[in-house]
Amino acid sequence: MSEPLLVLNRVSKNFGGVQAVKGLSFSVNPSEIVGLIGPNGSGKSTSVNLISGTLPVTSGGIEFAGRSVNHLNISARVPMGLARTFQTTSVFPEFSVLDQVLTGCHTRYGLSPISAVLRLPGSRAEETQQRRKAHKIIDFVGLSDVADQPASAISSAQQRLLMIGTALASEPKLVLLDEPAAGMVAKERKDLSRLILGIQEQGIAVLVIEHHMGLIMEVCERIVVLNFGQKIAEGVPAEIRANPAVIDAYLGGAH
Ligand code: ADP
Ligand code: MG
Repeated sequence: MSEPLLVLNRVSKNFGGVQAVKGLSFSVNPSEIVGLIGPNGSGKSTSVNLISGTLPVTSGGIEFAGRSVNHLNISARVPMGLARTFQTTSVFPEFSVLDQVLTGCHTRYGLSPISAVLRLPGSRAEETQQRRKAHKIIDFVGLSDVADQPASAISSAQQRLLMIGTALASEPKLVLLDEPAAGMVAKERKDLSRLILGIQEQGIAVLVIEHHMGLIMEVCERIVVLNFGQKIAEGVPAEIRANPAVIDAYLGGAH
């Protein structure tokens, strides 16, 4: 059994008086797909923000690839192999799909995303190589037909795939997906499930937040359930589905 890739050790985050995350501990193994679920406001996005380094923890420790990353911000964590997407679509609207993915290629080396488009550093040969890599990723996420379109001109489901492609371009060991299926129809969710499994096949671990239980149950090997910022359950999909506390807090309601 290899060492876990990501370890959260009693992580907490306060926003003023609000305890968004309380004493959260769990881990993600290399190439594992783990789901993070829970009602709205239960601290899922905050957890992703803490893991990615978008926000600092209030207390507790986060280790990635055997190193404490507590003191590192997001731009230092990306080159270590930690990449994320956002709950709300976050792409540069003016950029083409290709240019957007190229920003991800450049963050791999700790460069500013803008340098990808201004083509500041690097030789032409390197640029050609980056473009080849970007096209491969665009193909992998299913956006070849719109590679030259501005990001603002593609559908919101395609923009979500573009965020995943941009994250993959940084050559992550772990990708954090915050509600990747939001706004997708059934067929698009099905394709997304396949894509997530395809990411795993490349040896990349995935931590996925999602409200669509079909998708979560289909792709996740393990699921962590949050309620009011605390972990209330953890287990394989069948255990989570049958857990009374989870049904009570989450699965039994509108979901
Ligand atoms: P989820 O993603 O599970 O819906 P969030 O992590 O977004 O939940 O939010 C958890 C709690 O933290 C909520 O009460 C939310 O209002 C609060 N919260 C999240 N981000 C901030 C912030 N930047 N400032 C203040 N409160 C926040
Ligand atoms: Mg959220």
